[in-house]
Amino acid sequence: MEPKSRFLKVKCNDCENEQVVFGCACTTVSCLVCGRTITESTGGKAIVKTQIVEVLE
Ligand SMILES: [Zn+2]
Repeated sequence: MEPKSRFLKVKCNDCENEQVVFGCACTTVSCLVCGRTITESTGGKAIVKTQIVEVLE
């Protein structure tokens, strides 16, 4: 099992806001600007619902 303690820089598909989210994403994260769902947690796995700009180690 690979460690998932990474941060992802993502860009909102709707408003192009960029924000940093925690890669393990045990919670659902919404865009701070428009409220669009950015990551969704399903059974311990995070699904990123928008563009990943950069992976920050
Ligand atoms: Zn947005």
